[in-house]
Parts: sequence; C-alpha cells; structure tokens
Amino acid sequence: MSSFKALQTSESAEGRFETRIIEREVSELPAGEVLIRVSYSSLNYKDALSASGNRGVTRNYPHTPGIDAAGIVVESSASGYSEGDEVIVTGYDLGMNTAGGFGQLIRVPATWVIKRPSGLSLREAMALGTAGLTAALCVDKLERAGLVPGDAPVLVTGATGGVGSIAVALLSRLGYNVAAVTGKVEQTQFLTSLGATQVIERSVLQSGTEKPMLKEQWAGAVDTVGGDILFNVIKSLQRGASVACCGLTAGTNFQANVLPFILRGVNLLGVDSVEIPRSTKASMWDKLSTQWKLPNLNELVQEISMEELPQAIERMLAGQQTGRMLVRLD
Ligand code: NDP
Repeated sequence: MSSFKALQTSESAEGRFETRIIEREVSELPAGEVLIRVSYSSLNYKDALSASGNRGVTRNYPHTPGIDAAGIVVESSASGYSEGDEVIVTGYDLGMNTAGGFGQLIRVPATWVIKRPSGLSLREAMALGTAGLTAALCVDKLERAGLVPGDAPVLVTGATGGVGSIAVALLSRLGYNVAAVTGKVEQTQFLTSLGATQVIERSVLQSGTEKPMLKEQWAGAVDTVGGDILFNVIKSLQRGASVACCGLTAGTNFQANVLPFILRGVNLLGVDSVEIPRSTKASMWDKLSTQWKLPNLNELVQEISMEELPQAIERMLAGQQTGRMLVRLD
C-alpha cells in the first residue's frame, strides 16, 4: 500500500476550515518506528475541535485528525512490535499535530503503542476509545480517593456524551448508584439502559451558582463538562467526597470559593488521558478488558464510515452527539 485514504482538514484562503477525504502517500507520514493499518478509530470532542480549526489542539493545517486508533502493525523497526500485531494508540500527539486515526495508515513512535489486550477486539477497543480510557481513569481516581459502592448516588455530567455515557455504564457495572445529568432529557431511556438510576436535567445543575454551598448529595462525581456546572457539583458533594474533572464542553472557567474544600473536605481530582505513562494506559486497558468489561458496549456505539465523519463532527460541536461514534477505516 503506497497510498491510502484519509480525512483531511485544510484552511482556505478566507480562513475557513474544510474537511474532505483525500488520497495520501505513505511517504508523507511523519517519522516513527511503527506503521499501523488502522481498522477503527473513534470520534472524540477533541477531534471535532481539531477538524474545526482549533489552534489549541492543532497548530498546522492541512491535517488529519483522529486522536485514537486500533489496527494492525504493517512495519516496525522497534523490538517488541512486529508485522501482524494488533495494537491500540491513544493520546500523546496522535491526531493533534501528528496525522491521526482518521487515515487508513498512521506512523507513530513505538512508545505510544499498546498491544491489544486479549479480552477486547480492535472494534471493542475503539468503541471505548479515548472516551472509555478517560472514563476508566476517572473511576480509578475516585476509587483511589475512597469511593466505594453505596446508597448515595455518583453523579455523571454530560452523561449522553462519549466519556459520560461510558462513565455511566462503568459505574453501574461496578455496582454504583448513578445519577446522570444531561441536556437531552429525551435520551432518558438511553441513559437508564446504560444503568443510570436517575436522570437530571442539566438546568438543575446550572442553578445555584450564586450560593456559596449547596445541599450535600453526591458520593462522588465524574464531570465531563467543566464551567460553573463543575463548581455546583463541588458544592453539592458529600463530606470528604471527590469529583474527577476531565472535560470542558460547558467552559474552561468557573467561579469558585474555598468553602466546600475547607468545610466539607471535598476533593477536586484532575484527569488527563493524553500524556500519562503508557503503563498507566495499559493497566486501564487491562481493566476494561477484564473485570471492568462492559456488557452493553454495542448499545453505546454507532458505527460510521469516513464519509460520514464530517456530519458527525458538526453534530458533536453542536453538543448533539449521543453515545460513541466508532469510525470504520478499512
Ligand atoms: P461529547 O461531545 O461526546 O460529549 C460532551 C457532552 O457534554 C455532550 O454530549 C453533552 O451531553 C454535554 N454538553 C455539550 N455542550 C454542553 C454545554 N454547553 N454545557 C453543558 N454540557 C454540555 O465529548 P467527549 O465525551 O468526547 O468529551 C467530553 C469532554 O471531555 C470534552 O470536553 C473533552 O475535551 C474532554 N475529554 C478530556 C479528556 C482528558 O484526557 N482529560 C479525554 C477525553 C475527553 P448532555 O447533552 O448529556 O449534557
């Protein structure tokens, strides 16, 4: 294969960003020890930002987005990987300034590559994708901070999104009582099918920003949206409880005060899935393929082709995406 198909976002002379499918040469791929034929990628919020010209994600265009990929090694100059190995790559610079998983081939440093765990197919790995890895990291951090299943609910914001929906399913799978916050109440049935025991309209979490504290409710929380909703979550955590903060769809800034921290001893835990050690990623993939394996992965996922990506990106930017978008490349 000397040429391959890839989605490419380019900037027009008027500064508009356009995404279309092109034919690329393998020789155009960046240097790296491992060449991988991508079977599946997935659509994450960061891909939608990259595909719409967000310079905080991607500095230079034209560019192929796709922050995660699962596929088969075609060539490797690194010991540890050989032709035919099934592998996963998520995060680091993939899809940011390195041509990403929305192309049929990627070439990456061996230090980014993880062997597919035996309990997950390549398809299942990308059904989870970066969103699943991030949800797992959030749950892992909460449990390390002392969260255990009990009666009080664990809150998940942005619950119909990629990270949110997997966090709901995972927490439910692990025996937690899950409260899902969403701007799409029409998706209540979807959320209850994933295991949510209550569904809360987003506007409820948006009110009370002016109050210094709110009623103690949540045993823990996974926040995928940030902004003032995050601080309202912090203000309504139970004494000593924690929120794992991983997203920014509601905004990067929030008004805060120290009272929940010094009067209730609550914890704000940051979660990064991108630049963490490969060993941490591998241990999360192992969990997701064994004791944390989700029985309802297929219900969470809609499979699309490369041709359908531009429309899906628009939906994601408008906050209309529900569940996970699996992208079929071969
Ligand atoms: P999705 O677009 O799939 O999900 C985002 C969800 O957020 C939406 O479905 C919607 O859910 C909710 N939402 C959208 N707009 C708003 C708004 N204005 N106010 C409040 N809620 C809103 O994205 P992903 O799941 O891929 O990513 C979620 C977030 O997590 C992103 O900010 C992303 O950048 C971040 N992320 C961070 C990672 C890390 O390493 N820290 C890794 C992966 C993602 P609903 O309608 O149900 O409320």
